[in-house]
Amino acid sequence: MESRRPRLLAVEDERDILDLLLMTFTAEGFEATGAEDGLSGLEKCVSLHPDILILDLMLPRLDGLELCRRLRHDGRFRQLPIIMLTARAEEADRLKGFETGADDYVVKPFSFKELVMRARALLRRSGAVVSGGDSGRREEAVMRFGSLEIDHAARRVTFKGREISLTATEYKLLYYLAGRPGLVVERGQLLEEVWGYQEDSYARTIDTHMRRLRQKLGEAEVYLETIRGVGYRFKLS
Ligand code: CA
Repeated sequence: MESRRPRLLAVEDERDILDLLLMTFTAEGFEATGAEDGLSGLEKCVSLHPDILILDLMLPRLDGLELCRRLRHDGRFRQLPIIMLTARAEEADRLKGFETGADDYVVKPFSFKELVMRARALLRRSGAVVSGGDSGRREEAVMRFGSLEIDHAARRVTFKGREISLTATEYKLLYYLAGRPGLVVERGQLLEEVWGYQEDSYARTIDTHMRRLRQKLGEAEVYLETIRGVGYRFKLS
């Protein structure tokens, strides 16, 4: 079966960034379309039915949060993977973004390479058809790394066919890291994303959970790498 190119819609009012987004994603095999304000973004969502949306937070006519909220209230777009672009100063808005239903966020100035990786990870999770992939929808809902399988629909982790029983937090930790294979994830980011904390004082929580997660994973713990003084990385062997 031939897989089509994934459709991407980028809504960004800074023309330079939008051009770079469209160029980058087109080069990466996406069918990329742009919109320069929130209302056009909404219209293009309806007409194009993108597989993934890159959404700037501050937009004319309709801001990113409101656009996100409207999409999530529309059954057709409830599952649409959304990556929000935010400026560093917009911390509070960024958190609101998650309540509104964005799946991920990237802080400006961002690395286009990382954005592409995150977009692909989200597409894999959503089970959308990804260009170059030869597996069907059912297969892509499950993340596989060698003998390690993470079935997100069932929240089930198996290694060499044996189920590994994880707590909800351990699962979220593993799932978050595995969704960004090869990327270093800072402890602060894990705290925010997995626990919802912002204070550094909770940093030891991560180490405790990570230790338990590693014990449970046994042999499969080789996938988890500690980046001393920074955070962790899901290693592709
Ligand atoms: Ca903007």
